[in-house]
Amino acid sequence: MNQLSIYNPATAALISQVPADDAGSVAAKTAQARAAQPGWLAVPLAQRKECIVRFRAAVVAQLESLAAIMTSETGKPIKMSRNELNGLLGRIDFFLKEVDAQLVTETVFAEGGMTEQIQHIPLGVVVNISAWNYPWFVGGNVYIPALLTGNAVLYKPSEYATLTGLAMARLLHEAGVPKDVFIAVVGGGEVGAALMAQKIDGLFFTGSYSTGARIAQTLGPRMVKLQLELGGKDPTYVCEDANPKTAAESLADGAMYNTGQSCCSVERIYVHEKIHDAFVAAFLETVRGFKVGDPTNEDTYIGAVTRAPQLAVLEAQVADAKAKGATLLCGGTRLPGPGNWFAPTVFSNVNHSMELMREESFGPIIGIQKVSGDAEAVKLMNDTRYGLTAGVFTPDEARARGLLAQVNAGSVYWNCCDRVSPRLPWSGHGDSGVGLTLSTYGIQTFTRPKAWHLRSAG
Ligand code: NAD
Repeated sequence: MNQLSIYNPATAALISQVPADDAGSVAAKTAQARAAQPGWLAVPLAQRKECIVRFRAAVVAQLESLAAIMTSETGKPIKMSRNELNGLLGRIDFFLKEVDAQLVTETVFAEGGMTEQIQHIPLGVVVNISAWNYPWFVGGNVYIPALLTGNAVLYKPSEYATLTGLAMARLLHEAGVPKDVFIAVVGGGEVGAALMAQKIDGLFFTGSYSTGARIAQTLGPRMVKLQLELGGKDPTYVCEDANPKTAAESLADGAMYNTGQSCCSVERIYVHEKIHDAFVAAFLETVRGFKVGDPTNEDTYIGAVTRAPQLAVLEAQVADAKAKGATLLCGGTRLPGPGNWFAPTVFSNVNHSMELMREESFGPIIGIQKVSGDAEAVKLMNDTRYGLTAGVFTPDEARARGLLAQVNAGSVYWNCCDRVSPRLPWSGHGDSGVGLTLSTYGIQTFTRPKAWHLRSAG
């Protein structure tokens, strides 16, 4: 059997080797899930919910060890690992509260012996190919509502978050979800590709644009329901009436939290020329206060970069920005290993000829561009192939609403950033993807509407 080696990105040490799947085992697991799904659907919703309630309790009880596992394989600072697990609880509560209403059959017409109804049936067997940066969030957004609505789930954690994925499977099974209803599939891209070759009813993917595009090409002709939650190059505009210090503190956190490895990290900042210098000074002061180091330390803010190849991407963006005239204000280099380390990096005097302002960085690096006013800011914010989130800082709500209405993004923020709510749909425009998770739409998405036309015999 294949083995997957798992390394600690903060130390480069081998943590574990786990058995990995291959084409044969993937086919067998898919067949198991297919056979088990009708039985799971027959379990009353109240009992399916009880399983998820027990799963939630186990996450609470084991939170410390689950956080330690995630930190060991992703390099995420331990406090942020705890934050993610605590954040998951609110999402679970939302799904538990809302799922019943989403599954009620609706009578939309009843007249003269004719009745029309919409029934919400599960998709069937769904595959979730997941990312490593927030494995509990992006996984839970999919498999919790998918299971609650009666689907069987084949869950492939990222090869950079496999131990976390296996812990999820163990907790779900201990909570009563049958072993063939939620099945972890272990491995890298080739195992993801093997999953796509199976007869499946939905594929829910979180990851990069390039992998998402490959998946879309493969599955498009097969009419499999496809959701792709991809990357971003998320902009924020700081208006001249904003408080530069407050905005800088919030945006430095939005850019560097989780070592800049959030899909909705702030990746571009535009600042009105009137407060540009004050903003940059406050931003640098905040970033200089971020403690870089061992992610198991309580006071670490910047941990390891999870994937070693990303260091070269960051270096290339730095070199390109410098060559094109940007001003490097701090950082700009790898930090000594072992492990994958990059210094928090801030540039000013950037422009859209630079990769730094065009392509997802996914690391602790940010460009700050001076703008002359609202029109230029909106133009630059929309000058991207992505469209995940965008923000505006100003005390003036009407101005913020007016600006954000013009920006192409799935989520928009006024005086905040890098924020996800279970009550709101999470989706992207352009190359940030198709489909959505979270909100009541993010429950419905795991069902298909079946239209009933019923004429009584009399
Ligand atoms: P990735 O595309 O490298 O990998 C994602 C998953 O796809 C992994 O499980 C991987 O094994 C699998 N995979 C790789 N090649 C495959 C193939 N040919 N066929 C099938 N599966 C394959 O992405 P990543 O590095 O894990 O995640 C980082 C990216 O995810 C960033 O771009 C980030 O913005 C994005 N992301 C988006 C969201 C969102 O909600 N929009 C959330 C988190 C992360």
